Amino acid sequence: MKVRHVLILLTIYFGVMSEESYSQEKLQYYDLTKGESYVINNKGTESPNTGKFVKYKGHGTYVCKKCGAALYYSSDKFESDCGWPSFDNEINGAVNRIPDADGFRTEIECANCGAHLGHVFTGERLTSKNIRHCVNSVSLDFVPAHLEAKRYGIAQFAGGCFWGVEYFLQKAPGVISVTSGYTGGVVKNPTYKEVCTGNTGHAEAVKIVYDPEKTSYEKLLKLFLEIHDPTQVGRQGPDIGDQYRSEIFFMNDEQKQIAEKSLSILKSKGLKIATAITKASEFYPAEAYHQDYYFNNGKVPYCHAYTKRF
Ligand SMILES: [Zn+2]
Repeated sequence: MKVRHVLILLTIYFGVMSEESYSQEKLQYYDLTKGESYVINNKGTESPNTGKFVKYKGHGTYVCKKCGAALYYSSDKFESDCGWPSFDNEINGAVNRIPDADGFRTEIECANCGAHLGHVFTGERLTSKNIRHCVNSVSLDFVPAHLEAKRYGIAQFAGGCFWGVEYFLQKAPGVISVTSGYTGGVVKNPTYKEVCTGNTGHAEAVKIVYDPEKTSYEKLLKLFLEIHDPTQVGRQGPDIGDQYRSEIFFMNDEQKQIAEKSLSILKSKGLKIATAITKASEFYPAEAYHQDYYFNNGKVPYCHAYTKRF
């Protein structure tokens, strides 16, 4: 196991054990080797088919080698045969695009620390999203999914159109990021169009990454149950169809118990709860234009509003 990997694991374990609060602002830069610095600081390029992540298929999150910020989910990685790791989507806000000095390509860099990642290409028609982030392996490190869950809290909820659920949860204290996507169905890498047919089994959902030192799963879950109507069956407001159902996708037994307890409180108040509690399965981030929809378009949700229920 490489020294850097050990360092990341130690950071994760001690981050969990320590009383000190942990946030992305506190990330420190890791020491880089000469070869890493050539790519990351001097905008170099590693030789094709030499990087350790070109064919790598692990489940988890690719993070910046220099600062540790989360950049790409493994579910967005695809085989492009170009010789470098390829992704057709980035984690919301994690990657900056800047014109390359060569005058025609678009360079990508870590939004947190400016580390050079590679280039982004569009129009190649390699995936349905039609985007290829061509990233140097040495610019990346990898955090397996089972360890990632200890560093940050992760929650997944579905409560109607994901634009509205994302809007309210993104503003909650302690929330690091909210990604709109699809989960709970049977089709791999579904598109919005496919999910809208109601035939994929997926719900429009959000994946929330939060800082457990600043908020809790219970707080976010209760907020989720107050910003959509958990009594509606197979719809939410004007949006009708199974993809707009109310559902809590738990990541572990603790989350499951909190979900059951919260729903029983609402039932004891006389609400006929429709919200399902289901074990989380693969989450597929939605197309880029669905992310931060209301923030980017200067609008407010049409089907979600806050109602105090707890
Ligand atoms: Zn970085």
